[in-house]
Amino acid sequence: MAETDGAKRVGLVAHDRCKAEMVDWVRTHRAALARHRLVGTGTTGGAIREATGLEVERLLSGPQGGDAQLGARIAEGRLDVLIFFIDPLSAMPHDVDVKALLRLAILHDVAFACNRATADAFLQGPLLSARD
Ligand code: PGA
Repeated sequence: MAETDGAKRVGLVAHDRCKAEMVDWVRTHRAALARHRLVGTGTTGGAIREATGLEVERLLSGPQGGDAQLGARIAEGRLDVLIFFIDPLSAMPHDVDVKALLRLAILHDVAFACNRATADAFLQGPLLSARD
């Protein structure tokens, strides 16, 4: 369940080659995202915070367990939306964690966007709408 004030708990993760795009996406939708509770893996969260000034709770870096922490939040019912910009062209040492995170999002029916077009669509609807 989302917070009572309508804020959603939004997980943010971007692989290294996708971080600039994630920062740009957050900057583009800053006003809408400022209404939600943002939580990111370490490096992604830091980059967003530095570029936008938004408050972002930072977990461990993804390869150090940050993806697993987000997965745990999903399993515990503590994450509403996941925005995960996955690099489709690079092998990841923590591929099993990436898969586990997506599996848990599917299992617990948490909406997740793995590219910008889908993340943009989330802003148009009730998930992360900028409208009141
Ligand atoms: P990072 O983790 O934000 O700490 O770079 C992302 C990832 O690779 O899962």
